[in-house]
Amino acid sequence: METTRRIALVTGGSRGIGKACAEALARDGFEIILTYVSKPEGAAEVVAGIEAAGGKARAVKLDVGDRPAVAEFFKTLKDEPLHVLVNNAGITKDGLLIRMKDEDFDHVLDVNLKGAFTCLREAAKIMAKRRGGRIINISSIVGQMGNPGQANYVAAKAGLIGMTKTAARELGSRAVTVNAVAPGFIETDMTRDLPADIKEAMAKSIPLGRFGSSVDVAAAVSFLASDAAAYVTGQVLAVNGGMYM
Ligand code: NAP
Repeated sequence: METTRRIALVTGGSRGIGKACAEALARDGFEIILTYVSKPEGAAEVVAGIEAAGGKARAVKLDVGDRPAVAEFFKTLKDEPLHVLVNNAGITKDGLLIRMKDEDFDHVLDVNLKGAFTCLREAAKIMAKRRGGRIINISSIVGQMGNPGQANYVAAKAGLIGMTKTAARELGSRAVTVNAVAPGFIETDMTRDLPADIKEAMAKSIPLGRFGSSVDVAAAVSFLASDAAAYVTGQVLAVNGGMYM
């Protein structure tokens, strides 16, 4: 358990991987701020669950693609003990690249990469001043290996890995670590609607023989956010069942 008051901010904490991260970090003793964009009821449920377990949490509506709103939000945190940022908010708008619309490419980049950049930059200012912090960017296995139909999403997730390595080099002198987690195929709303035959084929290609769970990803995030990971920075921690090494 952390002993002093420390805040962990999880973007897109209303469901899926972000929800599991918020819950795990609350168990680790962090005060949680989770953001959502379209599902206030999901966010409220996560907050209630954390509080029922004895933790502290609040939810904030914030579209990470809305730069002025993100800047305003971080102003409210400037004197707070922000210790962890989990850049988790993400969307998909899939399609083969020769048919991909400009707006679908831009929207995915706006949320998944530019949104993460804005949050990282604003959090880094606070953490650098406090001389410590943990930034964890949720990338993806497809950012490492590519994936047909996801040129926009893969570009964003690969971009996050490059941004992670650069930020780690820039912020190391302030004891701020920056790492990425690259989940494989995880059971969430994002993957729920994949056709059954595709899911079955995917599961067969995973050495551990199954999709991962949000809790599997949250365990990696919990480690990277902990004091035990103080000397780990600029890394990409794969949580993919052995699918891609
Ligand atoms: P999910 O179940 O679809 O949840 C997405 C979360 O992001 C929700 O909390 C959603 O909020 C939030 N969100 C969406 N657009 C947003 C925006 N513009 N601003 C702020 N928040 C926004 O997704 P997931 O599967 O848990 O994925 C979480 C992260 O892991 C994503 O970055 C995803 O790319 C990555 N990932 C997922 C998998 C997988 O297999 N599932 C694999 C690798 C990486 P609302 O609930 O309010 O809509």
